[in-house]
Formats: sequence, structure tokens, C-alpha cells
Amino acid sequence: MYDAVIIGAGTAGMTAAIYLARRGKSAVVLENNSYGGQIVNSREIENYPGLKSVSGFDFSTKLYEQVTELGGSIEFANVTGIKPELSFDGYKSVLTADKEYKCKNIIIASGASNRKLGLKNEDNLIGRGVSYCATCDGSFFRGMAVAVVGGGNTALDDAKFLSEICSEVFVIHRRDTFRGDAGTVRELNDIENVKFVMNSVPVKLTADENSKLIGVLVEDKNSGVITELSVNGLFVAVGQIPNTAFLKDSGIELDKYGYIKAGEDCRTNIKGVFAIGDCRTKALRQLTTAAADGSVAASSL
Ligand code: NAP
Repeated sequence: MYDAVIIGAGTAGMTAAIYLARRGKSAVVLENNSYGGQIVNSREIENYPGLKSVSGFDFSTKLYEQVTELGGSIEFANVTGIKPELSFDGYKSVLTADKEYKCKNIIIASGASNRKLGLKNEDNLIGRGVSYCATCDGSFFRGMAVAVVGGGNTALDDAKFLSEICSEVFVIHRRDTFRGDAGTVRELNDIENVKFVMNSVPVKLTADENSKLIGVLVEDKNSGVITELSVNGLFVAVGQIPNTAFLKDSGIELDKYGYIKAGEDCRTNIKGVFAIGDCRTKALRQLTTAAADGSVAASSL
């Protein structure tokens, strides 16, 4: 039986694993994808204290190495559910399709995923013009016109990055003010090939005979007028949804958006179950706060 099973090998989960390993606690991290979580796709991180600039991939790989070199264990497995209450024999369980991991504590670090627009052919055009990661896919659109959807910091950073490699960048946002940093908005205002399309939402994606994106129809919410932007790339940056579906019927309390209810002590409503990183209710979802959560939970077992 493990002292803890950690669900998710993002920054939060791997930080928890580092702290547990250093405390001599037995733990396993279960990850259904590659290690690193969302940050693995970031071209450059400039706001992690002590690291002036590092790529998301390098940062994640260093974390992974730190976990394994300290004796921590990471297994690739898809968690399907948890039994968070202690059994008669005194253990909790984390379940995968073919295995039950018995433990004294569960640390949920399952993160969040990109929200989609919900347009009819959006899924079919993924990899054929539609992308959720400008830093991963931007270079495929060198010299072409592209659009970014969203008004948060991700959309603004994406637009800035894309303006350096694409001929034209439309930023489509559903309101007349941006949610992201005013400083970045000012920078974008001064970039000649960036154009803001405000109060507008994409309503249809158009494709050529090879099923590749060639345009996006955008509706002005005030006038109802629909215009077509001729673009080869559409970068969707409209926020995240928490990866907590596997907790359905587990008894763990979620908020109305699906985030796990837990305060700064990372304790959920069930003793011995912690929520850390982006899947937890919190004001600021950053690498720093994910790492902080991982250390708090791992020090509380
Ligand atoms: P976000 O801040 O939640 O912004 C999502 C944006 O998408 C909002 O502008 C929202 O519009 C819009 N949106 C949501 N659903 C939509 C829909 N169905 N159709 C059209 N637009 C929709 O998400 P984020 O930009 O990914 O950022 C997440 C967190 O990471 C934030 O705390 C952010 O500050 C942080 N972050 C920081 C940095 C940095 O420091 N450099 C970089 C990236 C992200 P409304 O504004 O109208 O709600």
C-alpha cells in the first residue's frame, strides 16, 4: 500500500512526488498522457522564479528527472475512478481499467484541458487548420493568415507569437475589452499585422476540397453582420475545463464549473484526499501556484 497515489504528472503532481520522495514516503504518480501537463507545450516560460527563460518541454523533463532520480515512480495509466473513503481494511483506492492502487492518501493533480468552440466541423479540422496550441503548431502557418479566438492572456500571447511568423493575425474576441494583460494589448496594438475583431464570435469554419481550413465566418454580436476572414489557421484559446469527470459519483465535492472544491491547504471534503494545481478551485492558475499546491499537499500527509 502506498502512502499516496498522485493522479497526474503535471507541475503540481510532480512537485508533490518530489516532496514525498524527499520525506521518504512511498508514492506513485499515474499519468494518462505524457509527463508535464499543459506547460509541456509552452515555447518559453519567463515567470518561474529563478529560471529566467526555459521551454515548457525542458522544464517538464527536468521535473520528471528530479522525481525519478529521487526514487519517485511515474506510471502511465488512465485513472477511471477513485474510492476516497477508507475501506474496512483501512485503505483508499485509485482505479485504472485493469488495476487497483491501494493507498492511505490520494492527491488529485489531474489539471485542465483546452475548451473547444463547439463548431460543427471543429474536430474534423484539428491538425488541418484548427489548433489549440500556437507555440506547438504556429510554425506550420509561416507566411499565412491566421486567427486567434479568445481574450485572455493565452490568446494575447499566442497572437504576439504568431505575428512574428504569420502574414496576418486576427484576434477574435466576444467582448469589447480584453481579459488579458493591458500591457500585452498595448503591444499588440502597435504590431502592424495584428487586427482585433471585437464583439465577435466564430460561427462557421470553411474548408477546401482537401478538408483544410480556408476561412472562418465571424458574427458581429452587435450588428448580427457575418463576415468571412480568409485564414489557414485558427488558434482556439478560450480557456480550460477541469479534468475531473472521473470523480463523478466519488463523493468529492466539485464547484459548478467542475473544479474540485479545496482551499489553500488543498484538502477536499474527504479526509486524506487532496486537490492540487489547475483542477482545484483557486484564483490564479500558474506554474508557481501548481508547485505551491504540490508542496503543501505532500507536506500534509
Ligand atoms: P481565460 O483567462 O479564462 O480566458 C479565456 C478567454 O476566452 C476569455 O477572454 C473568454 O471571454 C473567452 N471565451 C471563453 N469561452 C469562449 C467561447 N465559447 N467563445 C469565445 N470566447 C470564449 O483563459 P486563458 O487565456 O487560457 O488563461 C488561463 C489562465 O492562465 C489565466 O489566469 C491567465 O492569466 C493565465 N495565463 C498567464 C499567462 C502569462 O502570464 N503570460 C499566459 C497564459 C495564461 P470573456 O473574457 O468574455 O470571458
